[in-house]
Amino acid sequence: MVGSGVAGLTTAIALQRAGWQVHVLTAAPIETLTSHLAAAVWFPTHAGPPEAVTRWGAHTFDVLAGLAEQPGSGVVMRESLALYRSAPSVPAWATAVRELRPATAQELPSGYAYGLRFQVPLVEMPIHLPWLVDLFSASGGRLRFVRIAALDEVIDDGWSEVVVNCTGLAARELAQDRSVYAVRGQIVRVTNPGLTLSMRDEQHPSGRAYIHPRTADCILGGTLDEHRWDTDVDLAEADSILARCREIEPRLYQADVLEHIVGLRPARPTVRVEESVTGPGRARLLHNYGHGGSGITLGWGCARDVVALATLVS
Ligand SMILES: Cc1cc2nc3c(=O)[nH]c(=O)nc-3n(C[C@H](O)[C@H](O)[C@H](O)COP(=O)(O)OP(=O)(O)OC[C@H]3O[C@@H](n4cnc5c(N)ncnc54)[C@H](O)[C@@H]3O)c2cc1C
Repeated sequence: MVGSGVAGLTTAIALQRAGWQVHVLTAAPIETLTSHLAAAVWFPTHAGPPEAVTRWGAHTFDVLAGLAEQPGSGVVMRESLALYRSAPSVPAWATAVRELRPATAQELPSGYAYGLRFQVPLVEMPIHLPWLVDLFSASGGRLRFVRIAALDEVIDDGWSEVVVNCTGLAARELAQDRSVYAVRGQIVRVTNPGLTLSMRDEQHPSGRAYIHPRTADCILGGTLDEHRWDTDVDLAEADSILARCREIEPRLYQADVLEHIVGLRPARPTVRVEESVTGPGRARLLHNYGHGGSGITLGWGCARDVVALATLVS
């Protein structure tokens, strides 16, 4: 396996549960990965194709809801409110969420006429990723820090039977897949002034707005900048994020800014979960990358499909 982000670790654990012995290679420590900085709330965003996203998302929702019962996993079920400027239709993700209802007028911030209430898993990645690594290691998994220059290094290592490519944005080079591109995301981490409700307005005229309260802080977002590869903090954008989130939740005026964060979502027109033919005498090569803004939302569903592919012919 190559990659120890959310795609790599969920796949590694799913393969272990199916009886495989798994080694994971990673070029960088988990606290430096895109997966570590994600908001990270279950909510299909910027990923396709739609039918598979619905199926992967529904399975992941169920797994994460189960993990929310386990102390120390970093997963909680978070009461949520999606805000709309016109009457919303039933979203495609409603089937996974199951209990979805229109918000009452009392539940809406001023200026809003429509909203949907539901509960989704919120994953605190700085807690959850190390927890996944421990789970993987406890089942005999090995995590090694190696930067490979080409997937052939692992395909031809003489040891691997199957290689799973979970390298996110790096798949653009490693799998020579020019359809992989960055969708830059800028967010602001602030102190939590006592919030427990997650809120989002994806149609805010100044840009997307979302507020995700965590145990010790609160994530405010954020941008979704297509084909932007720079990771410099844009302070004007940060001010705009703060302004639109405070407009929705005025208690955020009391919050202190802790950190500005910029990450690059590994996007692709559709998530790639499939096999590439490598030829006789070589390891098989499976891919699991291109999750865009939904790596946490789709992780366990895609991992399940990788296990099915791995088991299919071997
Ligand atoms: C601001 C922001 C907010 C987000 N919010 C959410 C959210 O609320 N919900 C959600 O579902 N998703 C969210 N996402 C998206 C999510 O973070 C990604 O979809 C997900 O992290 C992708 O995971 P990954 O494992 O594919 O990639 P990564 O986490 O990037 O991991 C890639 C792995 O490949 C390894 N690798 C790369 N090149 C090599 C090499 N040459 N040799 C060895 N190893 C290599 C890396 O070291 C790493 O281990 C957000 C993203 C951003 C930026």
